[in-house]
Amino acid sequence: MNFYSLNKQAPNVSFKDAVIKGIAPDRGLYFPESITPLPASFFENIESLSNVEIAFEAIKQFVSEEIPEDKLKAILATVLDFDFPVVEIDENTGTLELFHGPTMAFKDVGARFMANCLGYFSEGENKEVTVLVATSGDTGGAVANGFLGVKGINVVILYPSGKVSDIQERQLTTLGKNITALEVDGTFDDCQNMVKTAFLDNDLLSQMQLTSANSINVARWLPQLFYFLFAYKEARSKGKGKEIIFSVPSGNFGNICAGMMAQKLGMPVKQFVAATNVNDTVPQFMKTQEYNPKPSTATISNAMDVGDPSNFIRIRHLFKDNFENLSKNLSSYSFTDEETKKAMIQIYNNSNYAADPHGAVGYLGLKKYQEKEADTYGIFLETAHPVKFLDIVEDTIGKKIEIPAQITKVMDKEKVSIKIETYNELKDYLLAN
Ligand SMILES: *Cc1c(COP(=O)(O)O)cnc(C)c1O
Repeated sequence: MNFYSLNKQAPNVSFKDAVIKGIAPDRGLYFPESITPLPASFFENIESLSNVEIAFEAIKQFVSEEIPEDKLKAILATVLDFDFPVVEIDENTGTLELFHGPTMAFKDVGARFMANCLGYFSEGENKEVTVLVATSGDTGGAVANGFLGVKGINVVILYPSGKVSDIQERQLTTLGKNITALEVDGTFDDCQNMVKTAFLDNDLLSQMQLTSANSINVARWLPQLFYFLFAYKEARSKGKGKEIIFSVPSGNFGNICAGMMAQKLGMPVKQFVAATNVNDTVPQFMKTQEYNPKPSTATISNAMDVGDPSNFIRIRHLFKDNFENLSKNLSSYSFTDEETKKAMIQIYNNSNYAADPHGAVGYLGLKKYQEKEADTYGIFLETAHPVKFLDIVEDTIGKKIEIPAQITKVMDKEKVSIKIETYNELKDYLLAN
């Protein structure tokens, strides 16, 4: 399958080139040339398929010819070697737990899939690839973990100093080997802008093969559609035939956009809810039809502190830039930290479930939508384990969270980072290494 640039000023490329380039030379995001729905029987019989079989059927049209089928199956088996349970919250609500992977946030699947694809593509090549990635929290750890030790690939992670949680910081600064953490004196948007600038910098591009591991990269973005299919498989029995709503706590809007790809593949969904914190560029757009990006504001759901969500353009494109069509499929609401904490308490008191702040924002979005559409089965995505936001969760619900093995492993390792303030410092670092 080929991919085109949403800016339409760059040539179409293969899956392999889209993964290696990350973003098109005209700065556009890559988008698949076609999306062929899966047969109705796939959804009718989904309960009889394993996760790897589901994932294989869903992704193969996008990667075919670049990765042989048996290799693709092997990659998927490695990537999907943990559970994705839907846990009941109340009669009409389940939460899809996406945090059972090695770094305990949902980005593990995308990061591992991309690392495996890139590892496969760079076998036998003598040119090294440098993966440059900005993180608002969880991407860094997932990418570091997914790419650790992958031959021919160096990873450089930019994160905003003091704006990620202690555990998140340890996950991305303690691995060493082919992973380097740059600690930026600034916000996530500053990090993301530096990465974007680097991709346009000919001094760099002439010297090295740079790619991005943010959800702009198709190999990070597309595998996220698996989650929705896995959840659909479980919800068919749990929801007792009611129409399904997905509420997705959203920052860069890659995850929800992948969910919409699952819908394009034929998965029945009544509505998507994009739940945000006070970084409400999209909820505002859904009210006013005006897209006004703004600087991000720090919140307790920091992985969603994004003022200019990069994947929203893919969502608009999926609905052919037709607002009416889009709003039939997407509702979007924003919530304050105060509301988020109240929701965490409510979920804990009513259902004895400890949600992390991101999941709680998803829960709020779902409940808001269900105020007018009560007779539905809603699934909110639990995108991170509560332990990743330990202080906030423990202080808010007044309960100690047990620390899982994946996390205790990094707790006593030493942080190693390089502090930078400006783009030129990033550039100097890349040219020198
Ligand atoms: C990255 C992240 C999000 C936001 O996902 P997007 O795909 O950027 O919208 C939400 N929650 C957690 C815990 C995350 O790490």
